[in-house]
Amino acid sequence: MKTQLLDANKPEDIAAAGEILRGGGLVAIPTETVYGLAANALDGRSVEKIFLAKGRPQDNPLIVHISAFEEMAPLVKEIPEAAKHLAAAYWPGPLTMISEKSDIVPPQVSAGLDTVAVRFPSHPAAQAVIRAAGIPLAAPSANLSGKPSPTTAAHVLEDMDGKIEAVLDGGPCAVGVESTVITLAADPPRLLRPGGITLDQLRAVLGEVQVDPAVMNPLAAGEKASSPGMKYKHYSPKANVVIVDAPFEKYRDYVNAHNAPGTAALCYTGEDAALDVPAVCYGGESDYAAQARELFDALRRLDDDLGARTVYARCPEPKDVGLAVYNRLIRAAGFEVIHLG
Ligand code: AMP
Ligand code: MG
Repeated sequence: MKTQLLDANKPEDIAAAGEILRGGGLVAIPTETVYGLAANALDGRSVEKIFLAKGRPQDNPLIVHISAFEEMAPLVKEIPEAAKHLAAAYWPGPLTMISEKSDIVPPQVSAGLDTVAVRFPSHPAAQAVIRAAGIPLAAPSANLSGKPSPTTAAHVLEDMDGKIEAVLDGGPCAVGVESTVITLAADPPRLLRPGGITLDQLRAVLGEVQVDPAVMNPLAAGEKASSPGMKYKHYSPKANVVIVDAPFEKYRDYVNAHNAPGTAALCYTGEDAALDVPAVCYGGESDYAAQARELFDALRRLDDDLGARTVYARCPEPKDVGLAVYNRLIRAAGFEVIHLG
C-alpha cells in the first residue's frame, strides 16, 4: 500500500482524510498529545486494522475521539456526574475518561471490557477530521507497538509507511506525551495514566482521586492491570535504557566513568557539555512541559542518530507533568533504575 502524505492546513486534505476513514481505512492524525492512528470507532472490522498495523496486543483497548461533548452520550451507558465536571474544566484537551460503554461500541474497541475510554482533543486538525468523517474515531498512538509514540509525521512514517492509507501532517505535537487517563468506573475515580492534565488539576475538580499503583511501579507477577496498556513494555528505543537517580554531579561522574563505545546519555538541556559520551537533551531540569514535549523524539534520536546500545538517563522528577515523563521513561527503561542518592 502507498501511504499518502496529507497536509492538515489544506481543507481538501482534511476532507480526503474523512473520506478514507468513512470508507474503513486508517489515517494517522495529529493531536495535541501524540499522533493517533485513527479508524471508524463504530466498525469493528475497521478497528481490527489498527491492531494489525501496530502489532498491538488484542487485549489492549483503544481511546475513542470525539469533536464535541454531546458526542459522548451515545458511546456510554450514562454520563457520570464527574465526567460533566471534568469536561467543563479540561475538554477539549489531553484528558481521557473511562466509563461504562453502550452497545454501539464494538468489542474490538474496548478489548472485551464493559467500559470505554473517550477523549475530546483540542487540536483543531483532529477536531476537523472527526467532523469531516462524521463518526467517532478510535485512535491509539500511531507507533509500532512497543516503540516510542510519534510526535511528528516523520515519526509516524518511520513506523507506518506502506501499512496505512494516509498520514495527516499537522506539525509537532504540543504536549508530546499521551493523554491523562482516569477511570470514573471506580469509586473514588482512579488515575490510570498520567499526562498533560495533572493529578492536582483532577483533584481540584473531583476532590479524591486515587493513583493506580501501576503509574509508578511495575506490576507484580500475576497482578491484573486496571489499564491493560500498563503491563506491556513500552516507549522503548532499541538501546538499553537505564535511569540514573542522582543529582547532576553524581550522574555526570557515573556516566563519565562508564563511557565505553556505544554508551550515550539522555540528559537535560545544557548538561551535555560536561559529559564524555554522546548525548541527547530533552528539556530543562525543571521544565516538565519541555521534557514531555521532547522525550519521545529524544528516544528515537538515541537510536537513529547515535546508534546507542546503552543509555544512561537522568531521572525525571515525578511532579506535575513530570509524573507523565517519569511514567513513560521508567517503562522505556524496563524499570531499571540505579540510585546514587
Ligand atoms: P494509547 O491509545 O496507545 O495511548 O493507549 C490507550 C491507553 O488507554 C492504554 O493504556 C489502554 O490500556 C487504556 N485504555 C483504553 N480503554 C480502556 C478501558 N476501557 N479501560 C482501561 N484502560 C483503557
Ligand atoms: Mg500507545
